Amino acid sequence: MQVWAIANQKGGVGKTTTTVSLAGLLAARGNRVLMLDLDPHGSLTAYFGHDPDAMERSVYNLFQAEAEGRPERPQSVIKTTKERNLYLLPASSAMATLDRQLGNRGGMGLVVQGSLKQLEEKVDYVLVDCPPVLGILLINAVAACDRLVIPVQTEFLALKGLERMRHTLTMVCRSKHLEIPSLVVPTLYDQRTRASVDSLSALRDTYDDVWQGVIPVDTRFRDLSRIGSTGAPYVARMRGMQAYAQLLDDLLVQSSVQSQTRQVAS
Ligand code: ADP
Ligand code: MG
Repeated sequence: MQVWAIANQKGGVGKTTTTVSLAGLLAARGNRVLMLDLDPHGSLTAYFGHDPDAMERSVYNLFQAEAEGRPERPQSVIKTTKERNLYLLPASSAMATLDRQLGNRGGMGLVVQGSLKQLEEKVDYVLVDCPPVLGILLINAVAACDRLVIPVQTEFLALKGLERMRHTLTMVCRSKHLEIPSLVVPTLYDQRTRASVDSLSALRDTYDDVWQGVIPVDTRFRDLSRIGSTGAPYVARMRGMQAYAQLLDDLLVQSSVQSQTRQVAS
């Protein structure tokens, strides 16, 4: 099982779209894929037709159960989707209260990791849609993941936020003694605008883990969220999905190189 966390503290940069697109493509290629919604806003959950304000069972229950000392099987919370091999572990708005309720309690940083461990034999890939705030949910995501994917909107304000974001992630990783490979993914790229072109080159000048491609602006992503489709069925007709397919190929090459390196080192 591989766990990829899609993270950025800024909203509207394409986290949920990246989660859905990569998950849909992985599932269409025959992998068993779980999308995990760790954002209390629940956009990913809503994308697949569930109301995060009315979810009876969600990630929230996994945390509650752990806090009460009766850990719960994640299988009891998972939902199917209309697409084959594609599953959702939904969010609920109650998750916004987790930090207040449990933040000071020890041992709550590994709830997600523990839940995913129980799915090890059943799931090939887990894609985690991360919350925009640094708190117990983001800490859980970082602790559980093998890889960080950081979507960044190609505009200057987004670059400013990225600095802060990277600092936060570095601190979380350091406190857990983790070194997690990351990839910055330029999103919402519009080659006709100066802001996109200039901020992309600034991004590449500043960081050495920026993906070589870009995710272009493609208005059809909005239509997909309306019909609750991942876009995987429309790859041939959407340039945005073609870019995500290329991103997926590159991520898979990186993961296989990294796992070979780990094997050689051990
Ligand atoms: P986040 O999860 O970071 O808040 P979303 O993935 O929800 O961001 O994207 C914010 C909005 O932008 C959504 O309405 C989404 O449909 C749209 N969007 C995301 N990526 C693209 C893209 N490449 N082209 C056009 N619209 C996009
Ligand atoms: Mg989102």
